This record gives sequence, structure tokens and C-alpha cells, in this order.
Amino acid sequence: SHAHSPTYPSLLQVAVRVRPLTNEERQRGCYRILEVQDDNMLTLMNQATDRNDHLRQKREKDKHFLYDRLHGEDSTQKEVYEDTTKPLVQDVLAGFTATVFAYGPTGAGKTYTMVGTPEQPGIMVQALNDLFQCLNDPSKISKTKISMSYLEIYNENIRDLLQPSGTLDLREDAKTGVIQVAGLSEREILTTKEVMRLLTKGNKERTCEPTAANKTSSRSHALLQVNVRKSAIKGVGEEVKVGRLFMVDLAGSERAKQTQNKGKRLQEGAHINRSLLALGNCINALAEGQAKFVNFRDSKLTRLLKEALSGNCRTVMVAHVSPSHHHREETRNTLVYAERAKKI
Ligand code: ADP
Ligand code: MG
Repeated sequence: SHAHSPTYPSLLQVAVRVRPLTNEERQRGCYRILEVQDDNMLTLMNQATDRNDHLRQKREKDKHFLYDRLHGEDSTQKEVYEDTTKPLVQDVLAGFTATVFAYGPTGAGKTYTMVGTPEQPGIMVQALNDLFQCLNDPSKISKTKISMSYLEIYNENIRDLLQPSGTLDLREDAKTGVIQVAGLSEREILTTKEVMRLLTKGNKERTCEPTAANKTSSRSHALLQVNVRKSAIKGVGEEVKVGRLFMVDLAGSERAKQTQNKGKRLQEGAHINRSLLALGNCINALAEGQAKFVNFRDSKLTRLLKEALSGNCRTVMVAHVSPSHHHREETRNTLVYAERAKKI
């Protein structure tokens, strides 16, 4: 495996983004329980910020959490992209692999951060746009091709989101050990607009199941893989370098018991928890520099990302939370998971 780029202080960066209160939350009289102190410290308050709420008594102390980076309610898509993912783009162009995860409960803003809207494009779209910009440099002698695949993992089944068909299998190349999804479509893409269109269309193919927690709860992981192939004429032959960028919109991290799931849904919850748990273990090990002790076989997600998570590859996790008192438990769990990602 290759040596990592020296431009970063650490292989794993953990950021937290707090989304704004939604109109519905405002109308329901939700109050805020989070306070961003600075670029690194977030406080989960025991009491409401709303002074009029005298009913809430102090049962426990305010809790402070530290992260590599915090993005408050007024953070822009551009700021979040530039702080988390933009630095990885240079690595990918140089032939390295990098990964960005959006973690958090359903409704906390993962898909907004990753895909966004045509007016407010998210990380996936901005990253591809940056890659396109680099291609437009006429001084480059090497030929570069950018392609993307978009898949979902739902109940440990893999489906192509760009060219929906049946479930797809993981294949491990006996010689190289590289794991690939057999039959996954790969699109060459040329414009940012096209990326937005493909991702929006792909998201409509995502498996959505109604749960007690949220009608459009997303129980699947959506994984965008971008391949950057650079070929340069070297002597008589042609040398091809492949850089890879994985951007993953993870399934909701809420617990099965909180969503009061039964039967099939409960099983889905179990699958999701398994892969998020496996991912958490991998990320812990990565932060500790002990990736060799991790069992990537624990879930399809970690098998697929084995190379990205085990080598000297950059990983960014953006954990998402709502500021509302309504989601206190989920928020606390998410903040703890994200904090643990960096220290066991
Ligand atoms: P998730 O993918 O985690 O389930 P969504 O991304 O769908 O959550 O966000 C839930 C709702 O909140 C959506 O209506 C979305 O547009 C809105 N939202 C999320 N994050 C932001 C943000 N940073 N700014 C404005 N609206 C947001
Ligand atoms: Mg979503």
C-alpha cells in the first residue's frame, strides 16, 4: 500500500454538523439543546436555551464534546465541503483513495450534506465539480477520466442505484485481493449538472420503508464511488494511476428499540446496526493505527471499504444532529459515537 499524503495531521477527521431547526420543529415549539462554543467544542445542554421554559429542571450537567471541526446551524454547504472533503480531492487526483461518511439518525441532515439541492449542492456534487475543474487544466499532458458508480446496501443486499436491477454480489480478486461489486454500472460523467441529476434519480431508487420514527426513514447506505484514472505515456508503455473517492450516505443510526420496529423492520434495524457497529470498529482501529486487527468481513459495507479503511487512506466522518430537544437521545448517542471514533 502507498504512503499517505503528508499534508494532513491525521488519517481520520471527525466533524459534526448541526442542522437548523426545521419549520415544523419551530411550529411544534421545539427548543435547542445544543450550543456550538467554537470550531471544536459542542455543548449538549441539560436545560433549554429558551429562557421561558422553566419546566425543564437540571437533572444532569451540561456535557461538552470535542471534535476536529464543528459546523453550526448557519454553516454553508461550501464551508462544510471545503473543511471536510476538498483536501481529499488532491489526494485522489494523485492516485490515492479517500472516504467521506455522513453519519447520524434519520432526519439529521445526512442527505442534505452529501447531495443537497441544485441551488445548494452537497459534498458529492462539489467534490466532482472540483475534480472536473482539475481536468480543464490544458497544461496537463496526462489523460484523465472520471467515472462514478452509485449503489445502496439494504439488509446486506447490494443494488445499483444508477441502473437498477437485482441484487449484486461482492467478488474478491483472488490475486490482488481487491473487492468489487460484480455487474455494477460505471458512468463516465462530464458536468456537475449531470452528477446532480444522476444522484437525485439514484436516491429515488433507494429503499425507503416507513417506520414509527419517520415515514421516509432511510434504512439503506448509499455509496458513491468516484474513480479517477490518469494515464501518462511513460517510455514505451502507458502508466495508469487510479485514485478513488468513496462518499457514503449512511443509513439512519437510530436504534431499533427507539423506532419501535417490529418484524421485518426490526431485522433491518439489526442489519443496519451490524454494519454501523462494524464501521465504528474499523474507524476506531484506524484512529489507533491498528487496522490489521479489524474484521472487515463483518458487513458488506466494511468489506467494500476494506482497502479504504485499512491502508494509509484519508477518512472523514461528518456526524449529523438536530438541535431540537425532541431528539435528545439520538443526539447524545450520535455525539458519543463520533467522539469515540477518535478515541476508544
Ligand atoms: P437524513 O438524510 O439524515 O435523513 P435529510 O438530509 O433528509 O436527513 O434532512 C432532513 C430535513 O432537514 C430535510 O428537509 C433537509 O432539507 C433539511 N436539512 C437538513 N440539513 C439542513 C441544513 N444544513 N440546512 C437546511 N436544511 C437542512
Ligand atoms: Mg437521507
